[in-house]
Amino acid sequence: MKVELLHVGSFTVGAGVVRRDEDFARRIRCPIPAYLIETDGTRILVDTGPHPDAASDPAGRYGSADAHGPFRLEQERTVAEQVDLESIAMVVLTHLHFDHAGSLSLLPPSIPVVVQRDEWEAGQDEAAIARNYFQPVDYASVADRVTLVDGDHDLLGDGSIQLLSTPGHTAGHQSLRVGEGLVIGGDVSHFASGLDDHRFPAFADDFAAQARSAERLRALRDAGATVLPGHDPDVLRPGPVQG
Ligand SMILES: [Zn+2]
Repeated sequence: MKVELLHVGSFTVGAGVVRRDEDFARRIRCPIPAYLIETDGTRILVDTGPHPDAASDPAGRYGSADAHGPFRLEQERTVAEQVDLESIAMVVLTHLHFDHAGSLSLLPPSIPVVVQRDEWEAGQDEAAIARNYFQPVDYASVADRVTLVDGDHDLLGDGSIQLLSTPGHTAGHQSLRVGEGLVIGGDVSHFASGLDDHRFPAFADDFAAQARSAERLRALRDAGATVLPGHDPDVLRPGPVQG
């Protein structure tokens, strides 16, 4: 099984926005990753990065030049420029935030999109959309081809990739355990240290649930797994990922 980290962009924001007890005036630049998993000839994309217009034309994309709030966005090469998307069997979304689901519309329309049912349903609910800062235009185009999953799930039926329910950052956030040794944590914690210190971003669907999810991933890490954080500039490097 091969896993590759794709660097699709960056955001820059006051550190206190993405890590509790940090200075809001200090700016921090964080990578936006997506992942390509290859197992027995099956290629799976994990997250898609932001839509290319999100950085260049937020008003056109989202109806407001201020759509990203305090986040300043930079686009690198899109997933379409880095991967032959025709070769992808499915896309797994950790969650529906714009920096993870924004480029769904670049994918060929035949590719199934795997997402937790709780996340998808939150993405259709007005109050949950507001609380989670979702942008429905990012995922509306795939409504007819989502595969909804309830909690932990054996993705390929052979135990090689386990979807782990890790809610809190958003309503139905999920992580992926790839083989025995690697966990793509998604945004359970933006930073690796968050599994221990629980200094999460200032926004969340449910902080208590997020803390429980962090404990879950911490236990996997303490048992020997490599747990990749969501946006940690000191940890995430493009290229092959070792479990
Ligand atoms: Zn994110």
